[in-house]
Amino acid sequence: MSRLTATATCTAHGAIVEVAGQVVPQALLAQRVAWLAGLARDLTARLIAARWTAADLDALASGVGLDGRALPAKGWVALRRLAWGVTPASGQHVCDRVARCAQEQAARLLRLAQHRRALVAAIVATWPQHPGKRTDAEWQALRALLSDRVSAAEIRNRTRQIRAYLDRHHVLPADLTDLEEAPASATQIVLAAADRQLATLERVGELGARLRVKLPLVACPASGRDWAWHVLPIALPPTVPAEATLCTPTLRVAKGRVRVDLPFQSPIGFAPAAGHVIGCGFDWGLNTLLTGTVGRLMAKGRVVSDGRPLAYDASGVSAKLHRLRAEREHLAAKKTHQERLLVGMTVADTRFAALSTAHEAIRAEHERVCAKIRHVNKTLAWSAARWALDQALASGATVIYLEDLATLEARGRRGRANARLSGQVRGQVVAAIRHLAAKHAIAVVTVPARGTSKYCPRCGQGTSTLTHCPAPDRRTERGWAWASCPACGLSCNRDWAAAERILARGLLGQQATRTDRATGVRTILAVVEGNLARARRPRKATRAARRARRTRTDLHPRLAARDRSKNRPTPKRPTRTANNSMTSSRVPDRRTVPAPVPGTSRAGQRPAGQAPQATRPPAGRTGLVRDPQHRTGFHRVAATPVLSLGHYADGPPRPRPTDLPEIFR
Ligand SMILES: [Zn+2]
Repeated sequence: MSRLTATATCTAHGAIVEVAGQVVPQALLAQRVAWLAGLARDLTARLIAARWTAADLDALASGVGLDGRALPAKGWVALRRLAWGVTPASGQHVCDRVARCAQEQAARLLRLAQHRRALVAAIVATWPQHPGKRTDAEWQALRALLSDRVSAAEIRNRTRQIRAYLDRHHVLPADLTDLEEAPASATQIVLAAADRQLATLERVGELGARLRVKLPLVACPASGRDWAWHVLPIALPPTVPAEATLCTPTLRVAKGRVRVDLPFQSPIGFAPAAGHVIGCGFDWGLNTLLTGTVGRLMAKGRVVSDGRPLAYDASGVSAKLHRLRAEREHLAAKKTHQERLLVGMTVADTRFAALSTAHEAIRAEHERVCAKIRHVNKTLAWSAARWALDQALASGATVIYLEDLATLEARGRRGRANARLSGQVRGQVVAAIRHLAAKHAIAVVTVPARGTSKYCPRCGQGTSTLTHCPAPDRRTERGWAWASCPACGLSCNRDWAAAERILARGLLGQQATRTDRATGVRTILAVVEGNLARARRPRKATRAARRARRTRTDLHPRLAARDRSKNRPTPKRPTRTANNSMTSSRVPDRRTVPAPVPGTSRAGQRPAGQAPQATRPPAGRTGLVRDPQHRTGFHRVAATPVLSLGHYADGPPRPRPTDLPEIFR
């Protein structure tokens, strides 16, 4: 039995001072928590500023303390082994536990910086001839220095940053410390590093917890009398199960409230790497965020899907994200321009005040737009993950197969078109699917992405190439969205075909599943190709169709031109010109509706015309319902409803003609 860690954000609405029994209202509590967090932040900032050098970062990266022992995972212990202490400002009485929390925060930030530092070092070591475009050899040299988990976007962003530095200083940065300022520390107190002398936590019943924490009573505590134990009652959200273990939280103040980021661990079942029979495969789509299919592994290595495409179509939301990103770029450009102007100005300048006010407004707006993009990305990712999990649960699947994002080629057309739903959203979706799947003991396994949408999932064992066109009725044009197989006649949505191939690769290659020891991430690196059949087969050809095929005649012949009743093009109607516009018989496009009389009680009456109807699947598109109620949380997302169709391939066998009563034969 392993454990899953999640974080619930709770609010402390007030507290009681333990000895005096005095009630501390929310505003005062927020102030005291802010003082504590401020003390810790100042210590963290001083510590990081002192250690933001190449030599100190090397010492931390070496992983060995001054005593020759390996550095532990606990950040504050690691810093103490390196003798990186920090003392509070003179006259301040701050207990050692607060210093520990500050050291923990500093260690986390410095360890995060190690990753960026390795990336910068690798890029500088293999600095390309033309920074705008690396050659294949340059890419290989760079990739050899980096781990597989570094994404192309990270490399691109760091390359841009280094290029900007090169333009300014005409020399490559020697280290990350040249390129960046010391990382800023958030105003929060990581109580995980403290012990019973600063904070304790106990659970009270199913839906409550009691946090005891020592808080300063003044901004600059001068002695131990300026500190007091506070008891904070916390209401737990219903997402925290009764059997969960609560961990020590992190405190921060947001919008005048004390926020308690409370991690909790709950026991989860074990999801085996192999031995799966029913699985779900999902592909990252072009217009749809996820396209999936459900399949079953049959005897003799056959894979049969239930023939139903599952789609989470987020085009509406991705269009919104696109607009927001454009707005963010616009605001960022404005902000940079104003900053440049402000640098060249003195405070005495008459324009300074107006410009700095405008700059402050733009900066706030830019931050607001950034926060909104982050929020939409996160919500979309969790909504899509929830949907994918619901589909897997409804179909009885025990495993979900996804494309490996690291091997997903970010080059070519796919890379550009997919920029709408950024790789960041996909990363978030994967993380969310992993988290939710762990709760239900469903395995999440990534399979290689190469060639998933290139080869037919139904024939050729991964050798017959699909042709792609824009739509099923535009077969002769070159396109993207629609796949058809010249060998077997398969004709379906490109992403659906890719999802089927991903599922087949996963179910057939499950013996080769590898589990990363450190992260528990499951991957299939080997490509095992196989065909996937769809359970719903086309109807048997009618007798007339069979005869037509046998005699090689056309089942629906077109009459010769002379035999048709219509044998000439339809003459054009007289066009609407200035002369005959008054006599036009055309119905006006818009029906005129009298405006509602202001002040009457019936204001807001619906204009004439057909009443809006309840949503129904459009003709020819079964399954895909634009239903805002459908659990996605977005109005502009079309997701296949989650239906449990029962088991399609292991039910009682269909009666054969000989089993039927005589009357039906
Ligand atoms: Zn085929």
